[in-house]
Amino acid sequence: MSTIDLNPDTTTDDVAVDLPTVPHWINGASYPSHSGRVGDVYDPALGVVTKHVALADQAEIEAAIAGAAAAFPAWRDTSLAKRQTIMFKFRELLDAKKGELAEIITAEHGKVVSDALGEISRGQEVAEFATGLAHHLKGEFSEQVSTGIDVYSTKQPLGVVAIISPFNFPAMVPSWFFPIAIAAGNTVVLKPSEKDPSAANWLAALWAEAGLPAGVFTVLHGDKEAVDGLLTHPEVKSISFVGSTPIARYVYETGTKNGKRVQALGGAKNHMLVLPDADLDLVADAAINSGFGSAGERCMAISVVVAVEPVADPLIEKIVERMGKLRTGDGRRGCDMGPLVTKVHRDKVASYIGIAEEDGAKVVVDGRNVVADGDPNGFWLGPTLIDNVPISSRVYTEEIFGPVLAIVRVQTYEEGVKLINSGAFGNGTAIFTNDGGAARRFQNEIQVGMIGINVPIPVPVATFSFGGWKDSLFGDTKAHGAEGVKFFTQQKAITSRWLDPSHGGINLGFPQND
Ligand code: NAD
Repeated sequence: MSTIDLNPDTTTDDVAVDLPTVPHWINGASYPSHSGRVGDVYDPALGVVTKHVALADQAEIEAAIAGAAAAFPAWRDTSLAKRQTIMFKFRELLDAKKGELAEIITAEHGKVVSDALGEISRGQEVAEFATGLAHHLKGEFSEQVSTGIDVYSTKQPLGVVAIISPFNFPAMVPSWFFPIAIAAGNTVVLKPSEKDPSAANWLAALWAEAGLPAGVFTVLHGDKEAVDGLLTHPEVKSISFVGSTPIARYVYETGTKNGKRVQALGGAKNHMLVLPDADLDLVADAAINSGFGSAGERCMAISVVVAVEPVADPLIEKIVERMGKLRTGDGRRGCDMGPLVTKVHRDKVASYIGIAEEDGAKVVVDGRNVVADGDPNGFWLGPTLIDNVPISSRVYTEEIFGPVLAIVRVQTYEEGVKLINSGAFGNGTAIFTNDGGAARRFQNEIQVGMIGINVPIPVPVATFSFGGWKDSLFGDTKAHGAEGVKFFTQQKAITSRWLDPSHGGINLGFPQND
């Protein structure tokens, strides 16, 4: 098992008084923290701490869960029609105001504003799915399964459900879960990443504006202490986690040990297999968009291009030509790619370029030399392309989570598929080809949860479910779509008989159909 970072790099013990602190959101209102512990929140394009975020202590964890638990009975009993009305209102408000949220995301995460808007829209899709949740909450009914007996099922909410989310999609990832959880009648405690916490508070205020009762949507900020509080609290019935694989595994093991339903989505290393018959202009565009969009800080980013020879040289030429036109800089200035989220993360990602050189790979474009359109103190690293990466290198085996695209050359389709299937992760993958038969074979043979055919980032729409295989997902239920509805509901089966004088009498045997 991988080691777990017990000291997240944003934590500080110095509680500066001159910067604002992002508060919790408990019982329908901002809830200032008195824990005495805060995390630093940076503007990554400026390289400075712009605010702090509360890091919850036990009392605040209890207050958040108690607020959600108190709100549950009334919310569970609120009519489906009323819940749907609030969901529609939330969707309308989000659509109207998403520009505000995008600016908040860019100021804390660093991704360019257009990309922040994109993540909000993908989250909004799930809210749209949830506006029709009444349809998915319908039960089944079998009449007369035995004489005078009917059996039917209902779907009921679980109670207080927790969401623990990563830094890279501060709006979209929580939105994979909370619209469905709330529409199904649960109350939610969201523990966002401490690196970009403000989007969660903005969403909480939007819910209040939409008319959601206090306590149905709670934001608890914090670090490991808050996560452990949620994982062990008897009132929390389920955990939806998204983050790195070591923490996902820890969350899954700890949550299930404490009797909870857990879905824990982990890290990734996504490959794009390029066959010799592919349209190389399309492939080069796709490699650039999926490798460097959001500075590679996407769980569905392509980080390895597997080129079936003789495709590598002409493809690299096309990718390099396009890389020369990319502008790295402040996300508010119309650039293509922003900074990395923290200095620690930037330095870690940059260190892989050195590792590649040591391992004998060829650094074709070195992002360490980037001249960024932004403050010199920003956490910059330009798009990087590395050819001939040995599959024994950590550049190949580890998730880098930055703008570093590796090229691995193979001789055949079979060699490429074997390579992809040998990896620890199974989140996303893509094949680029004009051969329908090859694509069909690929979708069948590949051991990965989400597959693109000439589509580099195959994130399924909200009516389907999102999730990987192997070390990319712990638990058996994916996010949103039918699996999301299943995760946030529990079924009851009811066997019913209305009195019929012909069916009285004593019978100690096991009931049999007649
Ligand atoms: P992370 O694992 O560091 O943090 C995720 C969450 O876990 C945060 O809320 C954080 O506060 C909490 N956490 C961190 N350390 C902890 C600890 N020791 N104990 C308990 N909780 C802890 O992940 P990140 O850096 O915020 O996000 C990037 C990772 O998320 C990447 O690995 C990426 O692939 C993954 N990710 C996966 C998906 C997916 O769908 N599979 C989607 C988005 C991101």
